[in-house]
Amino acid sequence: MTALTVAEAGRRRPPVLIVHGGAGPRTPADVDGPRRQAFRDAVSAALAAGWDDLSSGAGAVAAVVTAVVVLEDSGALNAGRGSVRTSAGTVEMDAAVVAGTTRDVGAVAAVQAVRNPVRVARAVLDDRWVLLAGPGADRYALDGGYEPADPDWFVPDGPARTADPPSGDTVGAVAVDAAGRTAAATSTGGVRGQIPGRVGDSPVIGAGLWADDRTVAVSTTGTGEAFLRALAAHHVHLLVAGGAEIADASAAALGEVRAVGGHGGLIAVTPAGDHAVMATTPLMIRGIVSEGEPAAVQLFAAN
Ligand code: ASP
Repeated sequence: MTALTVAEAGRRRPPVLIVHGGAGPRTPADVDGPRRQAFRDAVSAALAAGWDDLSSGAGAVAAVVTAVVVLEDSGALNAGRGSVRTSAGTVEMDAAVVAGTTRDVGAVAAVQAVRNPVRVARAVLDDRWVLLAGPGADRYALDGGYEPADPDWFVPDGPARTADPPSGDTVGAVAVDAAGRTAAATSTGGVRGQIPGRVGDSPVIGAGLWADDRTVAVSTTGTGEAFLRALAAHHVHLLVAGGAEIADASAAALGEVRAVGGHGGLIAVTPAGDHAVMATTPLMIRGIVSEGEPAAVQLFAAN
């Protein structure tokens, strides 16, 4: 049995939007008041923006992209503006989007020159490709008119961040819209001090995210190499496809991650609004909003 620090599950009436700002080993004592507020503000703003899309009928894919753009721009989390640095001092970001209705996927890896990697991933989803990496992905984004990022846009090593452990604060979103369409998105700056060129699970379909209207939409966060080896998001899908409850499927996927030495968390939602938020770490930044229920944000197991 996996030792879960966060294990929430239930059913909400669609539309449902869940976002996360990463799982990690920090305890409440490690995160000061201003930092907690920055996390809460980022998650609240992401829920509000994504909910606007869901309530105006823009659909699940639009909602997860909108929510993740807000998280990328917040500077408080390890994605987009707040991405951590590699061992060479560069910022290398990964992002992906999946549409559960069509199972279209778009992803970018190790991009350095764009403000919002998730927007570029969305463009790839609408194109004939699935995953673009490195300078070619940056070129694709800039040629496509996506906003470039000046080096001073990034705030990776500000005073609030230098004591952070190597991983954490990756962002993601899952949604089901009023029509039962699912989507997932994940975006990260990777792991602090990672070797240039290292890519984790976040932009990899089946590891860092999944969406399929027949089963479940999932976004993960944690030790990227372990989520890749466990193919964690796809593991949830396979178990739900086989009839498992979403909570049991999510816990089992995190058990597989632990079995290969990793830790982290995930958010998941089905077309019916069954959902799960699970983590094996003390910190799991997350928020949820759904039809008829106000937005709720939490950082740790109990608060
Ligand atoms: N999964 C991310 C990566 O390995 C890191 C994280 O979620 O904290 O790049």
